[in-house]
Amino acid sequence: MLKKLLQVIGLGVLLGFLVNPQGNFAQKSPGAQTVRDFQTINNIKYLSASRFADVFKVKTYYNPQSQKMILYLPEQRLKFSAFSSYIMINSEIYHLPNLVLPTDGDLLIPVASFTHIIQPHLGITMQYDASVPNLSVNYEPVNITDLIVEEKKNGTLIRFPVTRKFRETEYKAWQGNAGWFYLTVAGGYINEKRLSKVTPNGVIRKIVPIQMDGSVQFSFRLRERIEDYEAYQNSNPREIVVSLRSPAFNGSVELNEARDRWKLDRIVLDPGHGGKDPGAIGYAGLQEKDVVLDVTKRVGRLIEKEFPDVEVIYTRKTDKFIPLRDRARVANEQNGKLFISIHANSNKNKSVRGFETYLLRPGKTEDAVDVAERENSVIKFEESTEYYKQYDNEQLILATMAQSAFMKESEDFASLVQQGLSSEVPSRSRGVKQAGFYVLVGASMPNILVETGFVSNTREGKNLGWAEYRQKIAEGIFEGIKDFKLKYDQQVVDQASL
Ligand SMILES: [Zn+2]
Repeated sequence: MLKKLLQVIGLGVLLGFLVNPQGNFAQKSPGAQTVRDFQTINNIKYLSASRFADVFKVKTYYNPQSQKMILYLPEQRLKFSAFSSYIMINSEIYHLPNLVLPTDGDLLIPVASFTHIIQPHLGITMQYDASVPNLSVNYEPVNITDLIVEEKKNGTLIRFPVTRKFRETEYKAWQGNAGWFYLTVAGGYINEKRLSKVTPNGVIRKIVPIQMDGSVQFSFRLRERIEDYEAYQNSNPREIVVSLRSPAFNGSVELNEARDRWKLDRIVLDPGHGGKDPGAIGYAGLQEKDVVLDVTKRVGRLIEKEFPDVEVIYTRKTDKFIPLRDRARVANEQNGKLFISIHANSNKNKSVRGFETYLLRPGKTEDAVDVAERENSVIKFEESTEYYKQYDNEQLILATMAQSAFMKESEDFASLVQQGLSSEVPSRSRGVKQAGFYVLVGASMPNILVETGFVSNTREGKNLGWAEYRQKIAEGIFEGIKDFKLKYDQQVVDQASL
């Protein structure tokens, strides 16, 4: 059931390896190696840079004075220094969530995040499994060598030159929701970095190739809906071919139809908590679950009034308990185009007040991490918390990368909602922040979480108890939705007329 859900959601396979990290791939492949000799510091797993160099089969240079190290990768240099969280690959700079630490004549590198960053630069595939923990490395040569997109009269052809024949059960193409199309090839190996640079063409707007443990997934963002598709293999030249057939392009009627299909016409509103989970409890016993349900319904009514064509979907409309992970699933299954989780905040410091909007990303500031921890802690009301165990900070980095397709839009959306709230709500704007909220993990559409105010603050708690004030909040959120929708729909028009 979980597996099926993950296939439904965008880039689900990437999350799939997060929730099912029992890759036994290392035992099966001859060209494989499993690394387990990590050091644990503050709960983070580290591996020395020279051990990584062994794994990559490359040479190193270490300067003990400056505590800098270079790894000589094929055609690339990778530089680390002690007490820095930045690494440099040629001239590109990457940020690790933890510092590189010095050790006896060597440097210690945080394994999970580094593995994820370095993977696309290597001709080998690596999989870090935090639950064992181990790092499995595979030296399989690349067997899908290229990706070519060709625009044809009646559609678009995507050709994947391959070095061997794949069985029919090894590759699978399918159309996801929200304008994505996927091809997964079991046993496929690519140079991710190289294929990421392929220029989209025809009906394809964006290409996201992802090398996983023992398989590869290509995600294609489409400009418009396709009528039909087919995946097959040619032997001369040896290639996997995916053909995407476009609806007959016949003047402006079709153009408008294509445009309408991509309109932001389904918005998922998610009032936090409910039922046995009251959420934060504040001033005069005010419960977060009640405040946010009312705000959410008000937002829904504003949307329906202004945009009669937009369908508003609620994850709950009554005082009912809904597990966190079911909320994004509902949004995906209902083919939502926008996901907004609405909450109210609480703080031990009673003077703290204001509203803030969150993006799903590993927490940066202590405050943001506190808020995410509080909101995530409601899983204690669920029957099993097993599912969430993998979401430590480093795993969240991977989960958020699965959402990178929507990140730009989510950022835009978050800032518009925060602006809307600022113009309507007489309280303090605490800005757009980022943290690792479970409720947003897996949503395959632009998504944000709004903290509407602090029930723990006397003034704001009192305000949140008033219908007029909740209406103001709803209007602020609605303004953000409206601005985003108008902007998004305009972009769709522009793209359809390209
Ligand atoms: Zn909450």
